[in-house]
Amino acid sequence: MDSDFTNLLKPDGIGPCPGCGQDVAFFIVWKRRMAECAPCQAAERERKRCNQRREDALSLWSDVTPPGFQRKIEPYLIANEIRPALDLDGATGAGFAGTSGSGKTRVAYVLLRRAAARGLMPFAVTAAEYRQASANRHHSDPVVRGAAVGTLRNAHQCQALLLDDIGKGAKTATGDEALYDLLNDRRDNNRLTFWTANGGAEWLKKRFGPDHGPAIIKRMVDLITPHGGKPQIFVCGGDGKGEEK
Ligand SMILES: [Zn+2]
Repeated sequence: MDSDFTNLLKPDGIGPCPGCGQDVAFFIVWKRRMAECAPCQAAERERKRCNQRREDALSLWSDVTPPGFQRKIEPYLIANEIRPALDLDGATGAGFAGTSGSGKTRVAYVLLRRAAARGLMPFAVTAAEYRQASANRHHSDPVVRGAAVGTLRNAHQCQALLLDDIGKGAKTATGDEALYDLLNDRRDNNRLTFWTANGGAEWLKKRFGPDHGPAIIKRMVDLITPHGGKPQIFVCGGDGKGEEK
């Protein structure tokens, strides 16, 4: 009995690993030759883990992306100034500024999907939703509070964020401060961020005022500037223009 078991552990021969070609011990299991060196086995496990991660991230992208933005993009519907962003690979941040109807949010969701295809867990939130979540984080209703805290955590910690419509909607000092905190936190932790804003730098400066404006804009620019590169910003409708709605 003992010797039978010992025999089971003995290899049936030596042959090339199908992964790297190095000679390894092989076993015959159900007439199939099972031979793989440890590094190739580890690499295969890693490959499967990456594929799973990519699948999970893409599925999460479907969850956080409105159905209208999940449809295939039609480049001719995208403004000329925005269209070059479709060549980006989703590995570095990008910013879109200008009037609505230019397709900037649509393109930003495409880049968020490319980030997810790289295995980065995505999240998307509008600046107004983020501001609301920040206001509700101590809400007396635990359901409201829980949702708010979840939104704040995702916005801060997700591996790829789309922050949509910066500067849109009501202006409050605490809301602007929360936005600054988010941008600052993501910048300091080097977290991939895409954003859209309804106007260019001049409009944002006016929108956030002389106290917060320059600091907010600085962080917005930092977030979309690859190391040693130029800011990846796409402006349509001219700088300085903006919308109030
Ligand atoms: Zn091998």
